[in-house]
Amino acid sequence: MSEKIKVGVLGATGMVGQRYIKLLENHPWFEVSYVAASPRSAGKLYKDAVSNRWLIGADIPSAVADLTVQDANDAKLALGKCKFVFSALEMGKDEIKALEEAYAAEGIPVVSNASANRWTSDVPMLIPEINYGHLDIIKKQQEHHGWKKGFIAVKPNCSLQTYMMPLHALIQAGYPVKRMIVTTEQAVSGAGYPGVPSYDEIDNIVPYIGGEEEKTEKECLKILGKVSGDVIENASAPLVSSTCTRVPVIDGHTAIVNLEFDLSDDKKPSLEEIERVWTSYTSVPQELKLPSAPEHPIVVRHEENRPQPRRDRDTEKGMACVIGRLRKCNVFDVKFVALSHNTKRGAALGGILNAELLKAKGFFDGL
Ligand code: NAP
Repeated sequence: MSEKIKVGVLGATGMVGQRYIKLLENHPWFEVSYVAASPRSAGKLYKDAVSNRWLIGADIPSAVADLTVQDANDAKLALGKCKFVFSALEMGKDEIKALEEAYAAEGIPVVSNASANRWTSDVPMLIPEINYGHLDIIKKQQEHHGWKKGFIAVKPNCSLQTYMMPLHALIQAGYPVKRMIVTTEQAVSGAGYPGVPSYDEIDNIVPYIGGEEEKTEKECLKILGKVSGDVIENASAPLVSSTCTRVPVIDGHTAIVNLEFDLSDDKKPSLEEIERVWTSYTSVPQELKLPSAPEHPIVVRHEENRPQPRRDRDTEKGMACVIGRLRKCNVFDVKFVALSHNTKRGAALGGILNAELLKAKGFFDGL
């Protein structure tokens, strides 16, 4: 008999949902036993629901291909079928928020990729290497709602994964950052499927992604914040100014980052010290040896033409932040280029890492 935890995927037919299905195949702790999507897909076998839009370059896992897709809008359908769910739904924010709460109220924890609950003050927005301490808020969340077993934990926006770990590593090492300018070059897979029309994207760069700049500028403050009483209190720095663009790359978000330290000139780190801080950065997921944790969360490259999405996005199973072109900045202090895989670290595998942390910390005990 399998001892793996049975999990559900809401939005299993979408871009991120498909990644979950593939990445959870042969996962040592979790197995997919429940798939749900919109009423358009409900009632179909999974393999039929995705037949013309399976986007992962490998076969549909056989254990999932013949599962019948359920309507994600009815949380009760998942009762008894799975212990917790990954949420990769794309619908109205209010609808997702209500739906994720409905699953939690039924006693089914929700590990979400959606943005609907990122700003809920008692919901942790996790990058496990950085703010594992925010798990402490879950007990308060359950008290607020009267939930016994259910809860909601979310992932931040995918573009943040490109620079949050290097930023956190510096702050943690005693080099606070005052201001940052971030320019992202984001892959088309970040817009889901079919996403951006090919006529807009091929031979082109679109200099706007709705809502993305606000997320990039604000979410980092919650992630760097701390649990205070019943809520997560945001950090007050750094001040971030961002420009988010869509580029004709399939997978892999790049960020060009300029940053200024909140230190007098004599206390600012040298380039060598910054590299030392980054390459020695490890945290709780590495200590706990979580199955999806990269051994080296930050990888520094020295070639002048790296990182590149096609060459570097799969570094450390698609879970590393790959940095290159670290150099002095004439306006701020330093600048660099950072890359991460947006549908792995930035979406499904990042969500799986969150679930692994939750399991390792006992949040799925007794479900
Ligand atoms: P997507 O490809 O458009 O997939 C959306 C999923 O939601 C599909 O399974 C779809 O089911 C389901 N859905 C749509 N309307 C629904 C409804 N009314 N009721 C129930 N289910 C419904 O989107 P995606 O790119 O995978 O993104 C999923 C979520 O992850 C979004 O919240 C997104 O913001 C977030 N996210 C995405 C990325 C990324 O890199 N793509 C990164 C981080 C976070 P049908 O197939 O039946 O329509």
